[in-house]
Amino acid sequence: MKNCDIVKDLLPLYADDVCSEESRKAVEEHISGCSDCKAELEKLRKNVPVSPQKDGEVLKRIKRRLRIEKLVVGGISAVVFVFLLLGTLFFLINTDKSMDVEKYNIPDNLHVTMHGTELYLVVNGEAAGFWYVFPTISDTDGDHMGYGTGFDSEKKNGYGITLKQRKIDSFSITRMSNQKTGCEIMLFDIEKSAKMDKFFYYDDVNDKEYILWERDKND
Ligand SMILES: [Zn+2]
Repeated sequence: MKNCDIVKDLLPLYADDVCSEESRKAVEEHISGCSDCKAELEKLRKNVPVSPQKDGEVLKRIKRRLRIEKLVVGGISAVVFVFLLLGTLFFLINTDKSMDVEKYNIPDNLHVTMHGTELYLVVNGEAAGFWYVFPTISDTDGDHMGYGTGFDSEKKNGYGITLKQRKIDSFSITRMSNQKTGCEIMLFDIEKSAKMDKFFYYDDVNDKEYILWERDKND
């Protein structure tokens, strides 16, 4: 019967109580005289409560969400770890320490040469692996500019340097020897710098001066 087909199409809507008044009446009228469609409606109504299949869906969704949460937590941990690593590296690269005088054979690798009246420093060997030169001036009381508070510029009598290296260089396996062998660093003009009577390497760790050049008092 063609009517049955139409009613069966309407039954899901009827069971959910969302069909029009007209359709509802038509369905009820048909059902009262058709056991086949009535049975179909009973079946639909029994299936309306949450089915075991739907429970499975919910479980699956919860599991998927837990998996996503695990991934997110793992991802954040990885990012934090990378940032800590980069921070440590950045710190090691950008903080300095004075080069070990004995390890790098300082000041045996330092020599002073003259070009006219200008004094130059030549750095050789493993000492040439320095990162930068930290300059200082001494006064006649033995205090050094940049170290402590006792330095008196009115009493200055010498010019000195301390070689610095990156903290990370202490851990490097390959020695940086001979990288800057023979590099010359301009120090000062002995005629223009009348108060500079000596040039020295300053071991700031042990507060010790190594004299590399001294003005000839007879000049
Ligand atoms: Zn029917």
